[in-house]
Amino acid sequence: MDDDDLRDVASAVIRAESLTRRYGVLTAVDGLDLTIQRGEIYGFLGPNGAGKTSTIRMLLGILRPTAGTVEVLGGSPSADPFRVKRRVGVVAEQPAFYDDLSAWESLAFHAALYRLTGWDARAAALIERLGLAGFERLRAVDYSRGMRQKLALARALLHRPELLVLDEPVSGLDPHGIRQVRELLLEENAAGVSIVLSSHILSEVERTAHRVGILSAGRLAVEGPVSSLLRPGETLEDVFVRAT
Ligand code: ATP
Repeated sequence: MDDDDLRDVASAVIRAESLTRRYGVLTAVDGLDLTIQRGEIYGFLGPNGAGKTSTIRMLLGILRPTAGTVEVLGGSPSADPFRVKRRVGVVAEQPAFYDDLSAWESLAFHAALYRLTGWDARAAALIERLGLAGFERLRAVDYSRGMRQKLALARALLHRPELLVLDEPVSGLDPHGIRQVRELLLEENAAGVSIVLSSHILSEVERTAHRVGILSAGRLAVEGPVSSLLRPGETLEDVFVRAT
């Protein structure tokens, strides 16, 4: 290892090497090497079926790799789940909530799981920021799709994670919601939170991500800072279409 490699290891929040996932004869993730640095907003993109969700599930320790290694915040998400998971916030593509809990109770339940104290002020601030104030007593399952997305983000941020992993966090949101989420994410990032953002809403990724990786058939087809990938007059959508 040279000095650059050592620096890399120290500042990486995610490090996957030769990560592979097969489902029977299908190779969904194919020897992926991925390093995401502390403080980065990384756009993790790719066409339907490219292997993004499979990769994310392996990064979170909820899907076992067929081969390869994953390190998140310096630890193994599957071997050391309590150390890693308490420092990570997740918004899944289709966030799940308990049927009989109100939105506020859903946050209280999360706070109890993470053994948080003094979480109420943080929860109230997040609810306010995301435009959910006044809807705290409604059951989360009765929320609209966009409201559920926002509540999932509030839940993911409640325990002040160092790393956020977001699968389509703004799909289903109206333009106010998209702006609220964008501003909140940029603020968290400015405070040091690293963010992995998987989305098909490329205009949003272009606005927020420092670096993107475009997955195609389980391999990174393109990776780099957004500005370096765009030819004159191009959008990220053009880069995506060219690469995949
Ligand atoms: P999308 O953008 O549509 O969400 P994705 O990039 O997240 O797609 P994955 O969900 O990781 O893609 O799927 C990658 C490939 O693996 C697809 O061909 C999918 O059908 C397959 N796959 C995913 N999960 C399973 C499973 N449990 N069993 C069999 N095949 C699976």
